[in-house]
Amino acid sequence: MRITMCLTGIRYVKAPKPTGTKIRINLMKILSIWSYVWDVIDEGVDEVVSTLKNEIGLNTLSVATSYHSVDHLRLHQLERNIYRAPAAIYFQPDGSLYADTPIKPPVSPLVGETNPLRQISESCDRHGMKLSSWTVCLHNSEIARNSPEVAQCDVFGNPSSHGLCPANEKVRAYMRALVEDLTTNYNFATVELESCDYQGGRHSHAHEKIGIQQGWMDKFLLALCFCESCRKRGREKGIDVTVVANYVRSELAVSFKAGRPIGINFEEFCDKSPEIRAYLDMRESVVSSLISEIKAVSKAPIALMGMGDRRYSGCNAERIREIANWYEILCYTPSREAVENSVQNAARLMDGDASRVWAGFSAYPPASPDAEVLTANVKAVTQLGVQAISFYNYGIMPKRNLQWVKVAIEGI
Ligand SMILES: [Zn+2]
Repeated sequence: MRITMCLTGIRYVKAPKPTGTKIRINLMKILSIWSYVWDVIDEGVDEVVSTLKNEIGLNTLSVATSYHSVDHLRLHQLERNIYRAPAAIYFQPDGSLYADTPIKPPVSPLVGETNPLRQISESCDRHGMKLSSWTVCLHNSEIARNSPEVAQCDVFGNPSSHGLCPANEKVRAYMRALVEDLTTNYNFATVELESCDYQGGRHSHAHEKIGIQQGWMDKFLLALCFCESCRKRGREKGIDVTVVANYVRSELAVSFKAGRPIGINFEEFCDKSPEIRAYLDMRESVVSSLISEIKAVSKAPIALMGMGDRRYSGCNAERIREIANWYEILCYTPSREAVENSVQNAARLMDGDASRVWAGFSAYPPASPDAEVLTANVKAVTQLGVQAISFYNYGIMPKRNLQWVKVAIEGI
């Protein structure tokens, strides 16, 4: 999970007026902990679920069902204390749902002939624990490696090593099948969508070698997707995509040649041509329509994790509020003021309704240096009206930190 705070979106297109009916949800308080299948299975499903429910006071287990590549130091384990794996799903897929999707789900070798998600789901039912699908969507280096044609593609034609393009129909079909599979075959109370938008430019697993001090604009322009799907959608909106691509390419060319960061800012770049703003607006339509399609097949309410800069991600919360049930934010900071600001900003984006904000807390340093800080910050968001809280992460935090989670819950 990335830990960048979101809600830094800067308005650069006029936001459309909200349309349609307001989403109404019967909210019950969600007290959840993000967790990995490998930790829950290795430590004993019933034991983990029972402990989290009865001793710590949580009511929801959020399990990573689809996850990016990972190299995890497991502090609960002295033996097998590293879990290292490529991007994968952690359950047996329902093959019939992927029969017509060109992208097939990469199943973790950990699954084998078993179905750990079934075990966890049944244990949660037995213990009265709700289950949430922590679903990493488009940040998937395994699919990007095997099918580079569905990956995002920079203006020079380089496919991303990790980001699948949300505009690509094959990607969208895969995402619909994945969420339909999860919510049809398991008893999920909620689905959390992570990275369901455009991914940042460079995220290399190799040693990066870059001989220029890249600024924000350099990274932004290198991250802009010009894959065939994006170009096609741009053309369908009447945009001369070649004009946009040429502006991007020429700015980067000047920077590369001079060995200096790009010298203009975002607004100055956008002012070069109305085609540029139209292209960025097209990207926001791509993201919001994908989330609509996922919502349409999901049998559980969905939370969209808002991460990163809107200009990178194409994730416009003002459009998302008409679709998703919750906007999920990461309050990974010890600063109570920063936490409150994040929640208040998110609530504004959700029509002023803080009960549609889902707040995540890291239960270990540096974001939470001790139990007192975690408790104070959790209490602060509940006082602002937040009713859904998650803690990061069962198998990453030292085991003693579960007591911090317990204290924080008791303090609400
Ligand atoms: Zn694209």
